[in-house]
Amino acid sequence: MRWLSIFAITLLLTACGDSSSNSSNNKDSANKNPTIPIAKKTEKNAAVNPSLFLVNAIVGDVTTVDCTLSGGTKTSCYKITIAGSPADPDTSPEGPYCPPTITSSAEEGGTWIDGKGTVYDVDGEFIKNLATLYQDKEWQMYDINTGKVTIINGARGCEVAGDPRPIPGFNNFCLECPLEEIGGGIHKTVLIPTTPVPAEKPTEIRGRENTGVALNGVLLGPPAPLEMILSSHSLGVLDDCGAHANPHEGYHYHSANGCAEVGIQKDGHSAMIGYALDGYAVYAKTDKSLIEVKGLDECGGETDDVRGYHYHASAPGTNQIFGCYMGEKGSFEGESDQDRPRPKNGGPRSEGGPEHKPE
Ligand SMILES: [Zn+2]
Ligand SMILES: [Zn+2]
Repeated sequence: MRWLSIFAITLLLTACGDSSSNSSNNKDSANKNPTIPIAKKTEKNAAVNPSLFLVNAIVGDVTTVDCTLSGGTKTSCYKITIAGSPADPDTSPEGPYCPPTITSSAEEGGTWIDGKGTVYDVDGEFIKNLATLYQDKEWQMYDINTGKVTIINGARGCEVAGDPRPIPGFNNFCLECPLEEIGGGIHKTVLIPTTPVPAEKPTEIRGRENTGVALNGVLLGPPAPLEMILSSHSLGVLDDCGAHANPHEGYHYHSANGCAEVGIQKDGHSAMIGYALDGYAVYAKTDKSLIEVKGLDECGGETDDVRGYHYHASAPGTNQIFGCYMGEKGSFEGESDQDRPRPKNGGPRSEGGPEHKPE
């Protein structure tokens, strides 16, 4: 993992090259932009504070625009464009994903999750034991003679991760689409309310809708389509940060595995990770002493005097960053049709792996 991480970091730095003209503005836009008010707390809702984003996490200037939230409330939103790659690559490195052989160590591979709170190290042993784990002898993701794991990677990996068509006859592969193959982070523009507006009732996280933005410039994704792996015998492996990439969404987190915890809190409260789409902040699961926060509500949130209402990340492996939305949602630009139903046959393939018809 070590050399791969360094490799990834180098590539990330290289990949940032084309946006360097913007990144030099980030200090200004993040820290000095006069249109950004200093975060102030209201009775219950702390205002969003764009200056908390790491330098290089956002592209261009943060602006304030009129917007209509999911509940119909007309208010003002911050328009923030995230870089789409971790601005803290030393602590939140991308990759690795697929282990090369069935004897590879955990350092050479990423992670997978069961949706119930278990995070698996995707090492050689994990690949070897897939049939046992899922009680399905169709799993055979490596060459029996050589022990080599069947991996689709490079440009082809991204093509498969992003191509909606099924691949006839293709089965049992470990899929990886590294950031360098998609030219680095994909910029995503989000509108989040400058001050969160409580919704009438909690809203569940639906479909393929991205759920927020991390302070390190990475997208907070929706739950990963884990059920896909059981039917397609393929793995859209996550890295140790619980993230992976595809050409449409770019690099995104599915699980809060301890990365992007960049907003250190002076009072020992859990570090901040980012903002949910409703503008409420998302904090790490555990506080400075690694004590898990108790007494959270159904969305994983709580209120305190310093931060107002906020979420705490769900356990790694639960396949969600937080449980549901307590506020009215803002929106990602160009994602209004995120919740469209999928065609039953030959429909868009999930990034988690292709949908395969039985052969
Ligand atoms: Zn994903
Ligand atoms: Zn808290």
